[in-house]
Amino acid sequence: MNRHIQISPTADLTACAFCDALYTVSEVPSGGVGRCNRCRAILYAPRDNAIAKIVAYSAAALSLMVVAIGYPFLEIHTSGLSSKASVIDAILAFAENSGMMAPLSAVVAALIVLLPVIRISGMIYTTVPMLFDRPLLPYAKNVFMIVMRLRPWAMAEIFIIGVAVALVKIGSLATVSFGPAFWAFVGFVVLIVAKDVVLCERTMWRTLDTYQKR
Ligand SMILES: [Zn+2]
Repeated sequence: MNRHIQISPTADLTACAFCDALYTVSEVPSGGVGRCNRCRAILYAPRDNAIAKIVAYSAAALSLMVVAIGYPFLEIHTSGLSSKASVIDAILAFAENSGMMAPLSAVVAALIVLLPVIRISGMIYTTVPMLFDRPLLPYAKNVFMIVMRLRPWAMAEIFIIGVAVALVKIGSLATVSFGPAFWAFVGFVVLIVAKDVVLCERTMWRTLDTYQKR
């Protein structure tokens, strides 16, 4: 029989995620970097105005995703013919071509659009109350946990790399030009990276704890 035991974190100890060395939590000043003395891994990297930046980057990324979904992604011109395709067209193409590919289209949609949107929305849900110094919204910690757990599965950036590789191959057969959605996607990926640079996960968990205790 499985027994799930809730283990509470001790408030003033931090373990290095790479080598398990234990540290008593010390205040790392904003802009500073706290590294593991044994393996040099970064333990804390709090940034000035991190919450405001996270909210700003996330909101901007979300609006770019709307453009990325709604506008043409690529235009292909070959021997007088031209054709435009949006991300939705690409996803539906998998579904239409053969019944076997339909589940694949659902997976593609989830990985390149749905999961990134869920992660960004969850991040906004968690951080906006902090920005205005208000109590957290219900289940904020659970939402933040899901946001962090989904990280390896949100693959907008892999999609961009895949498109680039495909274009190099198509380039000799047809003239390809990028639509607004392509640049919106690139902007989305850049904003996600910018947000990840500002976000210090340990600092975020501690902030969530302090908000919850109030
Ligand atoms: Zn370490």
